[in-house]
Amino acid sequence: MAAHNEKMIEVLPIMGWALMMLPLLSVPFSSTKSGAVTAYLAVFAGFFFLFLLYRLPGMKKYALGGIYIAYSIFYLLAMYLSVIHSPNMRATVLLGVFCIMPFSFMDRPLHINLFAGFWLALHTVLAFLLKPKSLALDDTINALVFAILGCYLGNRVVLLRLDSLESQRQLVVQKETDVLTGLGNRRKLYETLAYLETPMSRKPSCVLMIDIDLFKAFNDAYGHAAGDRCLKWFGETLKGFSEDWRLDFYRYGGEEFVAMGYGYGQAEILNIAETIRTAIQKNDIYGLTVSIGVACCQSETVKNYEKVIELADIAVYTAKRLGRNRVSLEDPANGCPEQHRPAIDACP
Ligand code: GH3
Ligand code: MG
Ligand code: MG
Repeated sequence: MAAHNEKMIEVLPIMGWALMMLPLLSVPFSSTKSGAVTAYLAVFAGFFFLFLLYRLPGMKKYALGGIYIAYSIFYLLAMYLSVIHSPNMRATVLLGVFCIMPFSFMDRPLHINLFAGFWLALHTVLAFLLKPKSLALDDTINALVFAILGCYLGNRVVLLRLDSLESQRQLVVQKETDVLTGLGNRRKLYETLAYLETPMSRKPSCVLMIDIDLFKAFNDAYGHAAGDRCLKWFGETLKGFSEDWRLDFYRYGGEEFVAMGYGYGQAEILNIAETIRTAIQKNDIYGLTVSIGVACCQSETVKNYEKVIELADIAVYTAKRLGRNRVSLEDPANGCPEQHRPAIDACP
């Protein structure tokens, strides 16, 4: 919704200029146009100001306000032409603005309708004060018809667009969520890693790799369906942890999970990992334990977070080798992960 309005506020002032160019260019050939040249120039300047304003950094988040200002400029011009410049002629530009405005941006239908209603009421009052009565009545009826038509169809378009945006959002969520655990899936993790390469992204300070101990034996003993129920419970438990700490959990695959931690130093994250380990151990529904590998990174210097995940993975190997159900730390200062990966059969 915001993205659509942001594009619109880039285009609207330029459209405003382009539209003002036509009457301004026809001034030498038309006496009615030459009478309104100051108004056209004022509108031209107004759109120029709006164009510059929305080039300023940080202004995009006020796009909706800018769009309402742009349409207010259009309405003011249309009202000036109708009630001051040509009071003996029917309002035409105004009808066009009533028709187009509700289609061109996204906001709550009520807000759009109230905005149109305000200009309709203002024009009606001014038309009855400044135009011949019969013309004022004609204008009011015509403007009302166009405002109702524009708002009704515009509202439907806004609602349809919102529906399709919501379906797109749900598709993205489905694509990025692991069905069993409800956590972010591997695809989501890769997208996060790609995002971390962008300069403005918030960088994690540590990575946890959590591996359920002897899960194959659990499956063999209780069956695959019980294993699935256990993974579901595990996902819910990790989600609970992500509410307690600045940790984002992803299912890395099978019974392995990755967490990206934000803003934690080494001592803090080791404490958190230990709390997670003991919390899982204390839960006696499934009687399982986890081995957790921790790798910390200096967020400013790390370029490749896949390497940090690999370090956390190596730390899990270490934890398994030392007897499982423990937290182990791999220090990135030790060098590149390849040098540290134990031989496959080193892990019992
Ligand atoms: P370790 O302590 O060394 O990690 O032993 P482990 O048995 O947990 O590890 P291993 O890699 O030997 O086995 C992992 C098991 O996880 C194998 C597979 O049956 C089970 N698993 C992986 N994904 C799923 C799943 O989606 N559902 C179920 N029920 N089991 C799964
Ligand atoms: Mg395991
Ligand atoms: Mg494993």
